[in-house]
Amino acid sequence: MVKSSIRVIIRTRPTANFASKNLKIDIEKKTIEAFIPKDDNQGLINNQQENWKFKFDEFLHNSTQEEVYDICGRDIIHSILEGYNGTVFAYGQTGAGKTYTMSGGSQNYKFRGIIPRAISQIFNEIQNKSEFSYVVKVSFAEIYNELIYDLLSNTPPSEQTGNIMIQDDPKFGITVKGLTQVLCGSEEDALNQVFEGESNRTIAEHKLNKNSTRSHCIYTLHMECRSRVESSEKVVYSKLNLVDLAGSERTKKTGSEGLTLTEANFINKSLSYMEQVVIALSEKNREHVPYRQSKLTYYLKDSIGGNSKTLMVANIWPEPEHMEETISTLRFATRMMRVSNEITINVE
Ligand code: ADP
Repeated sequence: MVKSSIRVIIRTRPTANFASKNLKIDIEKKTIEAFIPKDDNQGLINNQQENWKFKFDEFLHNSTQEEVYDICGRDIIHSILEGYNGTVFAYGQTGAGKTYTMSGGSQNYKFRGIIPRAISQIFNEIQNKSEFSYVVKVSFAEIYNELIYDLLSNTPPSEQTGNIMIQDDPKFGITVKGLTQVLCGSEEDALNQVFEGESNRTIAEHKLNKNSTRSHCIYTLHMECRSRVESSEKVVYSKLNLVDLAGSERTKKTGSEGLTLTEANFINKSLSYMEQVVIALSEKNREHVPYRQSKLTYYLKDSIGGNSKTLMVANIWPEPEHMEETISTLRFATRMMRVSNEITINVE
């Protein structure tokens, strides 16, 4: 068992209206200072503080998708093929660039995000590891209003009855019963499942009248590795969770009502439970980590505080009007850096 802290990377969304009066970024030192004069701080931030200084593992300001992948994806994805679990997740307010970071932008290959690049790296590396044989399966889940939807099921999400159960296996950690796993023999197969899941998500969005920024999405690659050289029956299991979380903005500001308010309440609850999990772990209170309070935290139990090499991309939108969300994201990200995971390889 090896201890490994969650890595936290800050990524800014490029903007012509950068909050230069409020934010001072030092890329070399990986620090960001934030100032909110008391007059501007319309009582939204509980803390009366006006100045904050944060330091992170890495700061990606106006970075390309390729640079982001080299820092956020490459090492973790390599570890998956060695038998470790991995997680990369994007956190931040709606519009800050989470989906751009995880999936990519505007259908343009050049702007593809971490998910397609990770799939490509996995299948490329498998080809070069001729002494091992790998089985790769993918699943794609969406958590919306505390229900888990299977985006790769033959039953459309709008007709699913929410019978997917999260289980905590003493040996293999979190497994999700009832969630379809599709066998993929190539990069193309795995990418097709991403498209299939995203299109099912869009259809459900219309049928259920929901908004995709209001749900959490978890794309998982499940790996089984056997040696072709040794005669043993040993199998190494690993998985990679790639997660696009719902937006972390405040309801007060967006003025939500009706269904949007219900959705926002579910999102805020699950994100605040995630915060509670992170607080418990960062205070080394491992006895009482409230994972089971929400589907999201239970689903991500291995990823946050468990058996996984984990990296969080905290996306910020550095414009003056988003200062409250920016500071809230940076504070959460700071806490996340104090969480350490306990990593081991699963062999059967
Ligand atoms: P979120 O998923 O956090 O709600 P999106 O990823 O949908 O945000 O981004 C909102 C908009 O900003 C999209 O049009 C996206 O293409 C654009 N965008 C976000 N980050 C970047 C970036 N780093 N470079 C270029 N465009 C970006």
